[in-house]
Amino acid sequence: MTDSPLFYQAGPTLPEVSHADGVTLWDTRGKAYLDGCSGAISCNLGHGRQDIRNAMLAQLDRVAFTYRTQFENAPALALGRALVELTDGALEKVFFVCSGSEAVESALKLARQYVVATDEPQRRRFVSLRPSYHGSTLGALGVTGYHPLEAPFTELTHASLKVAGPDFYRHQDADDDAHVDRVLAETRTAIEAAGPESIIAFILEPVGGASTGARLLGERYLKGIRALCDDVGCLLILDEVLTGLGRTGTWFAWQHYGVIPDLLVTAKGLGAGYYPVGALLARDDIVSKVMANGGFQHGHTYAGNPLACATGLAVIEAIRRERLLDNTRARGEQLEAGLRTLAERYPWVGHVRGLGLLWGVELVADPATRQPFPAGQNRFAQITALAKEEGLLIYPRRTLDGVAGDHFLVTPPLTIRAQEVGTLLERLGRAMARFDQALADEAGTAAFTSQPKEAPT
Ligand code: PLP
Repeated sequence: MTDSPLFYQAGPTLPEVSHADGVTLWDTRGKAYLDGCSGAISCNLGHGRQDIRNAMLAQLDRVAFTYRTQFENAPALALGRALVELTDGALEKVFFVCSGSEAVESALKLARQYVVATDEPQRRRFVSLRPSYHGSTLGALGVTGYHPLEAPFTELTHASLKVAGPDFYRHQDADDDAHVDRVLAETRTAIEAAGPESIIAFILEPVGGASTGARLLGERYLKGIRALCDDVGCLLILDEVLTGLGRTGTWFAWQHYGVIPDLLVTAKGLGAGYYPVGALLARDDIVSKVMANGGFQHGHTYAGNPLACATGLAVIEAIRRERLLDNTRARGEQLEAGLRTLAERYPWVGHVRGLGLLWGVELVADPATRQPFPAGQNRFAQITALAKEEGLLIYPRRTLDGVAGDHFLVTPPLTIRAQEVGTLLERLGRAMARFDQALADEAGTAAFTSQPKEAPT
């Protein structure tokens, strides 16, 4: 809408949403869209849920907001206990926030206050991966590895040491294990060069989200990073803003690998699109040290309010009651099989990867060399627009600093049913066929226009 006061990014005019139910959204013209990416990988329970509505209304009728330094509130206590339980007791303390960026910001600040409290104030740097995304506030941006987002702010952020993670699609090593061992050795060398005694913590997503197109890191790598953090004496922060609360088929993605973090952040799926709520979880001894050294110098007004926490509790109850972790695994297998079948049809699908209901599809210009499409061609946007025309929402990402190609995520709500996965795949199949045709048309035009002209006689 050209007369809109709202500004986001240059882009096409958006349809206006009317209403939603289950995995479907309707715009004001009556067109239906299957939510194949759960909004921003956040509406994990689908739309229009009466149980969440009722829990929220019941809490609204009691009290919506209290400030955390004035009252304890039962939903916050219960949600805190529930989250600790979901980590099997590995992390015992919880700090609430309202978003993923705030959760990351809180983790970085708690980690820093911990090293100060343990007489290691010389630890001033974080280590993180490139590519990665950890949020949009300046602290979270400092540990984010994605040049277009970082560029305007490099002189304002406290930039972390950025290292490469494993890339099981493009590596040239003898095998995956050899690749992981080389990446770990290079990471160790980078940390040694920077000074291990200067590192506060390593932060990473145990399964890549939007920034890498669901790139898996694997058990060998994650265990290697855990061991490296222990050697260096720094903390391990796992960012499960996107993967937490069941997205990969376990409550948290680290539970696939048995790699226990010192600090854990989660957000999107906790409020499931119904209310903004996130959490930082931490080891008890870390929190005790900080609290004994003057307390945690940090906090947000809306953090841990009763309405937010009642929403989070209702979300966890729904995941349990409806056995959505099981559904995520089963529907994830169905989705994977369908995506792989579609991928076989088109040479420009370079890689399909993921876990549970978190799937990434990477597009390449040349499958033999795995060369990404030129960045300016915006293939990610083209295929996403075609999918939307076909009534399917997918989550797009542009070429990443030449490290990975354009990709899109397929991350439907954890509630999706088998027949709906079928509909999703049909619509995606139609969008992919149209994308393929567009590429063929372009190639035909290019071939035609690049025909050598006949020499004049
Ligand atoms: N960390 C990860 C892994 C994310 O995917 C995101 C958001 O996409 C964030 C942090 C930031 O979360 P928010 O957008 O809620 O601030």
